[in-house]
Amino acid sequence: MKTFEELDLIEPLQRALAKENYHTPTPIQAQTIPAALDKRDVLGCAQTGTGKTAAFALPVLNRFGQQNRRAKPNRPYALVLAPTRELAIQIGQSFSTYGKNLKLRHALVYGGVNQNSQVQNMNRGAHILVATPGRLIDLMNQGHIKLDQLEVFILDEADRMLDMGFLPDLRRIIRELPRKRQSLFFSATIAPEVVELTKTLLHNPVRVNVTPKSRSVDKIEQRVVFVPKKGKQELLTGLLSSRKAGPAIVFTKTKRTANIVSERLNKAGLKSAAIHGNKSQNARQRALDAFRKQFVKVLVATDVAARGIDIEGVTHVINFDIPHEAEAYVHRIGRTGRAGAKGVAVSFCSPGDQSDLSAIERLIGQSIPVDDELSVALPRESRERSGRSSGKPGNRAQKNSNRKKRYSHSDNGPGNSSESSGGQKRSTKRRRRRNRTVKAADVKNSRRSNSADSTKSRSSTGANSSSKPSSHASVKASQSSKPKRRRRRNVSAGS
Ligand code: AMP
Repeated sequence: MKTFEELDLIEPLQRALAKENYHTPTPIQAQTIPAALDKRDVLGCAQTGTGKTAAFALPVLNRFGQQNRRAKPNRPYALVLAPTRELAIQIGQSFSTYGKNLKLRHALVYGGVNQNSQVQNMNRGAHILVATPGRLIDLMNQGHIKLDQLEVFILDEADRMLDMGFLPDLRRIIRELPRKRQSLFFSATIAPEVVELTKTLLHNPVRVNVTPKSRSVDKIEQRVVFVPKKGKQELLTGLLSSRKAGPAIVFTKTKRTANIVSERLNKAGLKSAAIHGNKSQNARQRALDAFRKQFVKVLVATDVAARGIDIEGVTHVINFDIPHEAEAYVHRIGRTGRAGAKGVAVSFCSPGDQSDLSAIERLIGQSIPVDDELSVALPRESRERSGRSSGKPGNRAQKNSNRKKRYSHSDNGPGNSSESSGGQKRSTKRRRRRNRTVKAADVKNSRRSNSADSTKSRSSTGANSSSKPSSHASVKASQSSKPKRRRRRNVSAGS
């Protein structure tokens, strides 16, 4: 398969594709479209970024575009189910783009916004419905949507759907589907639960697999930077401003960190917007639009945005926090290097992240090179603490063994980790001195107060101060007469 003209698509679709400058089908399109045009079920293992939206949208548009049928009120002919509102909206945009020369209507149904306009659209009739499971079930329960006329069912990002706990909703929706239908099923990974689901949905499917994990991330230049938590923001600001990075997405573990990072970037003169689950749907969409139109340069996001977002020209993905789930890493970095473009993914690895990093490396089947150049950008103190005293690249084996040493103790600060044996001796001494200081302060505190809180605060102070020089530890310990507030602040600062 060489070009789109060689696919058996109707002329209005060919025209729309030419307008979009799509000449060559991507591998998922080349394999899925002919099978789907033959009304076969398809099981596609593909991530966003591979062109899978067109792989299912084009055959659906082709099928209904040929028929010239009117849409029936509340009874769509095709249903695309997506796990997130962002993805649903994006899929809707793809249907608009590819279907712009056809007289087909599509409707969007997702939660987080008032349902009235969605209900009106359904009453008016839509050939194709793109929906998230929760709102779809709501509207089905209210009688605004009936699936008895459905001819094509598409499940997008099935694994994500299961991860998000949508299985009961999916079962409920699947129960309503007519037995005679075509089903197209897409998932980034084919885990055992996904296989179970395919058994209930697909009939003799054509299997298409275009994303062996290691290959999907190959075109993205990946780097890891070892950095203490406190040095992350400065490193980020430097990276995004000094390297002439283009549009960038920064991923954090928590919503709070996303807000803080975004605010600090704005203060540093880098226009940014935060996007996460606490933001209203409208605020999320506004942030996405601003980013897409390049009014803001940086989008700071939690994993809610890791999948589905399809914005061309994202040059950098920065993992401000390494994700706990290795799969999330693959999805995050897939926001760059889209549609064959080059992309850079930089992960900030702090003490305690080492095991998550190893899990990611196991998953992608490669070790992520350490970025020495970026580490040079660290402030001197952080550089020393992260055990990186020079920016000169070493060999990979040396780097990896350094990396293991660097954060091998979970209670070690970065400064204690990958130093030479002299450094290790010094750090042991420092630790002992620190422990003595903490203990002395603890004794004082426990004399001052025998409350359960002060007992808790002792252990918390001890743990949190472990990466600090002894003077910090003693200051902190001596301040533990305000245990609760101090403890909470320490925890959130690292979140
Ligand atoms: P998707 O995997 O569907 O999220 O698509 C990723 C990106 O690839 C989107 O920006 C599409 O517009 C683009 N795209 C999809 N198919 C093609 C194609 N055949 N040629 C060029 N770009 C494409």
